[in-house]
Amino acid sequence: MPDALQITGLRKTYAAQGNAPAKHALKGVDLTIKAGSIFGLLGPNGAGKSTMINILAGLVNKTAGQVVIWGFDQDVNPRQSRAAIGVMPQELNMDPFFTPRASLEVQAGLYGVPKSERWTDELLALVGLSDQANAYARNLSGGMKRRLLLAKALVHRPQILVLDEPTAGVDITLREMLWSNVRKLNEQGMTIILTTHYLEEAEQMCDEIAIINHGELVVRQNTRDLLSRTDGKTLVLDTGGPVALPPLPEGVRHERRTDGRLAITYPPSRLRADQLLDALRGAGIPILDVATEQPDLEDVFVELTRDK
Ligand code: ADP
Ligand code: MG
Repeated sequence: MPDALQITGLRKTYAAQGNAPAKHALKGVDLTIKAGSIFGLLGPNGAGKSTMINILAGLVNKTAGQVVIWGFDQDVNPRQSRAAIGVMPQELNMDPFFTPRASLEVQAGLYGVPKSERWTDELLALVGLSDQANAYARNLSGGMKRRLLLAKALVHRPQILVLDEPTAGVDITLREMLWSNVRKLNEQGMTIILTTHYLEEAEQMCDEIAIINHGELVVRQNTRDLLSRTDGKTLVLDTGGPVALPPLPEGVRHERRTDGRLAITYPPSRLRADQLLDALRGAGIPILDVATEQPDLEDVFVELTRDK
């Protein structure tokens, strides 16, 4: 099985326009994505995620670098590389005069899918638009338009599905439907690449995660290892009121939460919770209640994208 995607030295500079200077949106990104994974591409607004995805989709021309999709170099075998990938864009761009059925048929035509191999009705059912199959797109709700975009990305049965912020601003029902579709497609063997700024979602959905910031790849790891990067656990204590803390071991931080509880963050690689609790008890500090907090993706993300 080939890598789903190999990106080498990818650069994109948007030319200066009027008073706006040239923008280096991607500054030499290397990234390989294994076939069969659900891969999360994360980064703050303006990091370059959509630029990268639009380059994969053939919607934006790269300035430099190599993009190999399912073994096909985008510049050498444009047709095959395009056929291997389906992209659900971030923007809702659709022709208001097409019905969902017509949209899917037109899209299939663009990809050269023969009539006998089209799966329009199945796709409409998959995304829950069977009842709206013949309604004009301008009469569809925002959520329905998004579902249609997902179906459009799938007309040519691509090996790789790319979703750019698929759940931004959508309600919980649609979000669940999207994710259950994504899981189902992945179980059938499709490689999924998605961007989201809902980190909890990425944490639950993705096997592997890359974070980009200012056009550069900051990290790329499997989700479990990424989460264990931050060497910090937190004990949250109810001390029944203000207390004077004894000197704490190096690397331990503390803060008083607005609810009055005392949060003590320590490096679990060097210190155990019972050692910390013993030190506190030894100093006569009452501990009425203890809770523990693990770092989540949000913490890792903030740490890695903090401007230094
Ligand atoms: P993200 O999807 O991570 O939010 P984008 O890829 O949309 O980031 O944008 C990356 C940077 O490139 C941003 O600074 C953005 O303003 C700029 N940019 C994006 N598209 C264009 C464009 N068509 N022309 C000029 N600058 C652009
Ligand atoms: Mg974007």
